[in-house]
Amino acid sequence: MQNYSTLFFMVLHGVCGLIFLTSYLQLNKSQPWLTWTLKLYVAVGIVSSIIAISLQMHLLMAWIAFSFVSLTTLIMILVALVNLARSVDARYLLLAVSCSMLGLLASALSVWGVIPYTFWGFHGAEVGVVFEAMILATVLAYRLRNIERERITAQYLATHDLLTRLHNRRAFEDIAGQYLQQAENHNKPVSFIMMDIDHFKAINDNYGHHVGDQALNHIAVLLSHQQRKGDILARWGGEEIAILLPDTTLSHAIQYAEELRSLLEHNPLTVESKQIQITASFGVASGINHMDGHLDSLFRDADKRLYIAKANGRNQVAPTLDSSISA
Ligand code: GH3
Ligand code: MG
Ligand code: MG
Repeated sequence: MQNYSTLFFMVLHGVCGLIFLTSYLQLNKSQPWLTWTLKLYVAVGIVSSIIAISLQMHLLMAWIAFSFVSLTTLIMILVALVNLARSVDARYLLLAVSCSMLGLLASALSVWGVIPYTFWGFHGAEVGVVFEAMILATVLAYRLRNIERERITAQYLATHDLLTRLHNRRAFEDIAGQYLQQAENHNKPVSFIMMDIDHFKAINDNYGHHVGDQALNHIAVLLSHQQRKGDILARWGGEEIAILLPDTTLSHAIQYAEELRSLLEHNPLTVESKQIQITASFGVASGINHMDGHLDSLFRDADKRLYIAKANGRNQVAPTLDSSISA
């Protein structure tokens, strides 16, 4: 077997190269017929090697191994050339395979006596393969880094609102569910604020939709700066913002909502040296038990109170601090 193992591993080396080529250039998507042809070529290489080994035909096996490796290198270069315009990856592949091919050529020519026999000439094949591996490893590391970046961006897009950069409602509900369950397990209070900008439609109507967008952004920045550690802020819908306050009693939550209300009132939006006063109404709710990780009852309470704040004239928090203390 020792006589045949090196030759058989040469064939396997070629097979691995072709598997890498197919998946690296995603040939099964762009050129499925080529993938099938390469599969057939690999099958022929392996089956003929097995037959030569079984029949103990060493010369035939040597011929198969050398032909397979040379042909495989040629195929890889041709496929890389064909895909050069379509894929940047093909350029790196061409460079890497060329290094290994030039190394092989140097070794062969120095053994055949075509070029002077030197140490580096003889070991050209090994040097070429090392360069090939280094180029491919660098390219793969770069590709992995890009995939990771894309994954992080996709995750951000799926969980955030792009206009305000706050969490979106779906992400908020996911995080809030975990917080509510923890609060219930540890018997701790949790509060919820629902905020709605007053007469927001009038801002759009009077100054244009783009100023409405700026107003939303302005408010998100103000609220984010005031955000306490552990609080979760999200754009719930159009001009509504939800805030979950873990480990916070109703009276503290009302106090905090009052601070936010005053913050918005005293920080108008400036557009082209014009100041636009923006106010908001707040509904606050609190709970300890029986929430089972669900936001529904807190949301309903906060929404009802927001409606009261609107009905009572807007730019206010409901319930007021006084009414919550007496409650
Ligand atoms: P109220 O004080 O009762 O809350 O009145 P409102 O005008 O704020 O409420 P209404 O529900 O009548 O209008 C909300 C407006 O918010 C309507 C919609 O066009 C606007 N809006 C929702 N999302 C966006 C957005 O992303 N950008 C802008 N510019 N406007 C938005
Ligand atoms: Mg509104
Ligand atoms: Mg609204």
